[in-house]
Amino acid sequence: MAFHDTTVEVMLTAEQLAARTKELGAQISKDYQGKDLTLVGIMKGSIFFLTDLARQIDLPLTMELMGLSSYQGGTETTGEVRITSDLTKPMNGRHVLVVEDIIDTGLTMQFLLENLAARHPASLKVATLLEKPSRAKVKIPIDYKGFVIEDRFVVGYGLDYGEKYRNLPFVGVMRTD
Ligand code: 5GP
Repeated sequence: MAFHDTTVEVMLTAEQLAARTKELGAQISKDYQGKDLTLVGIMKGSIFFLTDLARQIDLPLTMELMGLSSYQGGTETTGEVRITSDLTKPMNGRHVLVVEDIIDTGLTMQFLLENLAARHPASLKVATLLEKPSRAKVKIPIDYKGFVIEDRFVVGYGLDYGEKYRNLPFVGVMRTD
């Protein structure tokens, strides 16, 4: 019996995540052929998706990490976004693909896109593993999307609840019963 069996219900299996990530990687490889691609992963939630996606992209890309904080450990957004760890390299002239775990209200991504655009990349696009369109407060153009999900609080594969559950190999929903 695994530690999460009684608390988390599987929504997307490791196999489903891997298959979709492979498809997205193939598409990105095609779209960025001959371009200097930089993946900008948003910590901490995107780290599993970022590393799996990067391994499915057949291009000599570079990777950067950025730390953002919009949630204070619970399940509700505060609406406030802070940079907790900034990029270490200039993005000027690079083809930047932001890699995010989930777009919920879209407020975090809106802030991030404005911030990155000011660094004058050659192009700026968005890849997200999950999208919850029913919660959107702002319209975010999503170029690469893993799965659209309903309005449930999900954990696993990088996503946390109070900093825990990130290490689950699948995406699941916290059981409320
Ligand atoms: P937004 O600004 O789009 O409302 O929220 C984006 C961030 O909120 C995500 O990067 C993620 O950290 C967090 N978030 C939103 N929905 C969920 C969820 O269902 N589960 C978890 N663990 N985090 C979420």
